[in-house]
Amino acid sequence: MHWVKKWYWQKTAEDAVKILNDKGYTAMYAETADDAKQMVLDLIPEGSSVAVGGSVTIGDMGLIDIFRSDKYKFYERFNTSGYAETYQVYRQSFLADYLVTSSNAITRNGEIVNTDSSGNRAGQIILGPEKVIIVVGANKIVDDLNAAFERIRVVAPQNAKRIGHHCPCVETGYCVDCDHPESVCNATSIIHNGRKHPGRYTVIVVAEELGF
Ligand code: SF4
Repeated sequence: MHWVKKWYWQKTAEDAVKILNDKGYTAMYAETADDAKQMVLDLIPEGSSVAVGGSVTIGDMGLIDIFRSDKYKFYERFNTSGYAETYQVYRQSFLADYLVTSSNAITRNGEIVNTDSSGNRAGQIILGPEKVIIVVGANKIVDDLNAAFERIRVVAPQNAKRIGHHCPCVETGYCVDCDHPESVCNATSIIHNGRKHPGRYTVIVVAEELGF
């Protein structure tokens, strides 16, 4: 990575950590995704039950296979017989000790914004799992809610393509505000701050570009 780009991600991540701590979350800075991975593992006691969002960031960090080990009880949402079983895992995941996920966007006002196909991540971030650990690359820090929604419009077609949905943006490459049955944009949640349940949210901001 060019050193100026690294400097930009460092400044962005440092700034976001300050804002998020002021907003009542527990926010931490990570220099690299490897550092963030170790921080996540240090936060979760062995024996805990763990649910995850459908996150490229978390998958690329190699955390999914670790959560599948016998050290944890993993809510297996990926290797199922189909959506009916996945849906039941989503429902059960609301009782997890930990939700580990990324996010679509975090604003410079400390809002955490997520749009989902099924609403499992968006819903569990609001309430359910005892603790929520969110790992984001600094590329997901945006100025405000409008910028967050704009970011989601840009990345949602990429996510639709990635997970094999057949909504219109997979043909166009950009959002056409569809009403398609295979839309990946069916539920959006905004967390405004971390004050209601102190200690529930840990947000790790990585000074790198990660995920979608
Ligand atoms: S076209 Fe539909 S599925 Fe694709 S990004 Fe827009 S609203 Fe989401």
